[in-house]
Amino acid sequence: MGVIDHRFSDNIITTNLDTVLAWARKNSLWPMGFGLACCAIEMIAAGGSRFDIARFGSEVFRASPRQADLMIVAGTVTKKMAPVLRRLYDQMPEPKWVISMGSCSNAGGPFPTYSVLQGVDKVVPVDVYVSGCPPRPEALLYGLMRLQDKIARENTVFRKERWIPAGGTEPIIVEDRG
Ligand code: SF4
Repeated sequence: MGVIDHRFSDNIITTNLDTVLAWARKNSLWPMGFGLACCAIEMIAAGGSRFDIARFGSEVFRASPRQADLMIVAGTVTKKMAPVLRRLYDQMPEPKWVISMGSCSNAGGPFPTYSVLQGVDKVVPVDVYVSGCPPRPEALLYGLMRLQDKIARENTVFRKERWIPAGGTEPIIVEDRG
C-alpha cells in the first residue's frame, strides 16, 4: 500500500478487501433476537426510539435464522430449549456472531437447577457476554459496539467456519455498571 500512497488526488482512498468487508459487516448486523425471559424486554427496549439500536445499523431484527448473522440470547436457556437454540444457530449463514445477554444466558443466573443450562456457551460459541440481571439496553448497545470492534479485526475473506467449544474463544465481557 505504501508504494501507491500519495500518488493520487486527495479524494481517493486505498484499502484492502478485508477492511471493506469488515466495515460493511460490522455496520449492518442483522440480529435474530432470541428472547427467552425477562432480559428480552431490555433487548426489545434497545430497539425502541429511546435507545435506538438503528444508530449502529442493527435494527433489522429477523424472525428467520437464515436472514440473520447475529444471535442475541436474552434470557434463561432451559435444557429443553438448548437443542432448538443450537439448531437455529446452525441455520444461520456464516459469518455469524453471538451475544449472550444477562446472567441467565451467561451462566444460568439465579437458576442453578437441573432444568436450566448453566451458560449458553455450552451449545454455541459466544463472542460477547453482557452481564446483569437484567442488563440495561445501554449495556447491550455497548456489547454490540465491542462486537463491532471484534469484527473489524477479523479476517473475513479467508475466515474459516467456526465451532469453538466453551472456553476456547476469546470472549468479551461487558459489565453493566448502571
Ligand atoms: S438474567 Fe435476570 S432478568 Fe435476565 S432472564 Fe435471567 S432472571 Fe430474568
